[in-house]
Amino acid sequence: MKKPAAPAREFIAPSDLTFGFSTCKRCIWIKYWFSFELKKDFPLVKSLSTFQEEYFRRAPMPALDPSLPAGTVKQWGQWVKSKNILINGVESQWKLRGIYDLLGHYDDGSVGIIDCKVSDSDRDSGDFYAPQLEAYAYTLENPLSGKAFEVQTMGLLVWKLGGVAQTRPNEFASNEMGFGVNQLYIPVARNPERLSALLEEFISVIDGDIPDQGSECHACNYLDGRLKLEN
Ligand code: SF4
Repeated sequence: MKKPAAPAREFIAPSDLTFGFSTCKRCIWIKYWFSFELKKDFPLVKSLSTFQEEYFRRAPMPALDPSLPAGTVKQWGQWVKSKNILINGVESQWKLRGIYDLLGHYDDGSVGIIDCKVSDSDRDSGDFYAPQLEAYAYTLENPLSGKAFEVQTMGLLVWKLGGVAQTRPNEFASNEMGFGVNQLYIPVARNPERLSALLEEFISVIDGDIPDQGSECHACNYLDGRLKLEN
């Protein structure tokens, strides 16, 4: 497969730094050069995380976790775009762009990034999502336009489903049953060096030739098997 004259996208999605290389690198290369990808729908996850984000709009930051400094959640669900990414001091053709969940503004003028998760997965550790959060921090500190913000804290706000709970009568419009959650705030340490190394690898992959197909991914194995059957 030959590359077109220019990539189909100029922005790297922070979530691709978490999930993009999880199987093999071929699909991510096709995504950036041809804007062709498998669409995935997560309807229940989306509704639950929207409830979670809406619940904390305008909340004091210490209400999310007592360890957080004084401040307020003032922004949510906004697109952020970075300047061109520098690799070893040289400007690449790629920028970062994504939507953060919640942004807290601290009293000293710095900000805190909160990534909301409704999840029951042990994979949701700070280490797993650290590059994605650091990518948002990079974008806020190196914006394509507008004011830059110093990022003081980053963290995951995890709601783990705890089970069914009966609520007080009339608390919900239609019935009195609900799901309870256990809330956990997981601080994520800043690590710009790790992001730099990951971006360097990511960009060298998408700037190179199309990578080989991996052997572990169910999608290609299914397609290969089906083609064999059909031929
Ligand atoms: S194995 Fe195939 S479907 Fe899976 S990521 Fe690689 S190219 Fe994509």
